[in-house]
Amino acid sequence: MSEQGCNDNNQTSFRGFWLLSCLLFGLISTIFNNNSLAQSTKKQADLIVYGEYVVTMREDQQVIKDGAVAILNNKILAVASRTEILNAYFSNQQIDGVNKILMPGLVNGHTHSAMTLFRGMADDLKLMDWLNQYIFPMEKQFVDQEFIRIGSQLACWEMIKGGTTTFVDMYFYPEVISKEIVECGLRAIVGAPSIDFPSPGFKGWDDSFASAVNFVTTWQGKHERITPAFAPHAPYTVSPEHLKQLAMTATKLNAPIMIHLAESNSESNIINERYGTTPVAHVAGIGLLDNVNLIAAHLVYPTATDMHLLSKKNIGAIHNPSSNLKLAAGIAPIVEMLDKGILVGLGTDGAASNNDLDMWEEMRLAALIHKVNNDDSTAIPAFTALSMATRMGTEAIGLGNITGQLKPGYRADMIQVSLDDLRLMPIYDVISHLVYVIDSSDVTTSIVSGKVLMLEGNILTMNESKLKNDIAIISQKIKQVLVRNKH
Ligand SMILES: [Zn+2]
Repeated sequence: MSEQGCNDNNQTSFRGFWLLSCLLFGLISTIFNNNSLAQSTKKQADLIVYGEYVVTMREDQQVIKDGAVAILNNKILAVASRTEILNAYFSNQQIDGVNKILMPGLVNGHTHSAMTLFRGMADDLKLMDWLNQYIFPMEKQFVDQEFIRIGSQLACWEMIKGGTTTFVDMYFYPEVISKEIVECGLRAIVGAPSIDFPSPGFKGWDDSFASAVNFVTTWQGKHERITPAFAPHAPYTVSPEHLKQLAMTATKLNAPIMIHLAESNSESNIINERYGTTPVAHVAGIGLLDNVNLIAAHLVYPTATDMHLLSKKNIGAIHNPSSNLKLAAGIAPIVEMLDKGILVGLGTDGAASNNDLDMWEEMRLAALIHKVNNDDSTAIPAFTALSMATRMGTEAIGLGNITGQLKPGYRADMIQVSLDDLRLMPIYDVISHLVYVIDSSDVTTSIVSGKVLMLEGNILTMNESKLKNDIAIISQKIKQVLVRNKH
């Protein structure tokens, strides 16, 4: 009775309860089914890396707060918020990003890696004294394959530690350098040097150029992280005929060319005396600017006409502020070059004229010296300096379609920078911090082509104690000669 009565009396509310239960059950089932669906449709990634700030260096200058990057093989699968990545991907390997910036690795657009072994050997000298009394004689005496092996290992160590993931190298025995780069895990454009004079391993132009052709053809397509290139030293050390021969060969082989160009006033004077023109117009007349990609280091003295010419060609200008300041070469007109649409990257130059391979220092100098040089505190803002060391840097060296940004389809080349140190607090603008406060000691993680090269500040691909020992032995020999020469 009571039951019947209850049913009778509460028929409407019972029906309501039943309907509500059905709705709830349906809702829970939907959530459950959606979760199952999400689990089953999640894509596998090899690695997921997180960042409290993900600086993508995309065109829209996007910085994702609490973001992540999913990586598969050597490429970036996705860049998004932590939640979006976790909803779409799963991976057994994850790198935490608490209080860290995740960003593209830095790009050193011009260096001579093995010169690390000449770091601090001779400073505060006139350029010609420095070259003729120290660099050239010491290169003649010491540069061999073993020197290159140890020197480029030291350079790779320093670059990985400091967050560089791609570099452009120009030094002797490029095949030895390339082998070391393959081992340490970095990405590089490796230039085979050619010069008209005797150099380590060569009598002059003919054998150095033949060896360069051999290097380029051997390494083209051989390794995903190595791009072989031609590296004629400069327009004042290589004759026009030889530069022409090289330009034609490089075009035929579709290989980049790197060269020191318009670095000093004395170079401009020499070229003017010999050929009655500027270094840039001189190499343009030879056809060097028509190359698939010309990487021109320094460009301290291009004229307005030169800059107009450069803006029409596929060239990248590499600005080396530390080296230009230390050797008193001058200050490159970077603001004008950027205004004309010339792609500008940053480089350290060799450690003999810097004296380190620290790209954070180059970024900061680039952001500072052009302000005073142009009497304009708005010149080279932080994002431009950062772009020259990342995205624009890769565009300047011809690798802008594969690296320099955190973007799906691009190579997984990235670094994490720690914000733990108290000297980095407070943080209001992450881009400003990257250029004006952070330095190489804050880099904790390095990943190139999806492979982790450094984790929590520990380099995983190199043997530190063996390298230290090798450097101690070779630097002792160099020291003995330096001491002997002084007496
Ligand atoms: Zn150089």
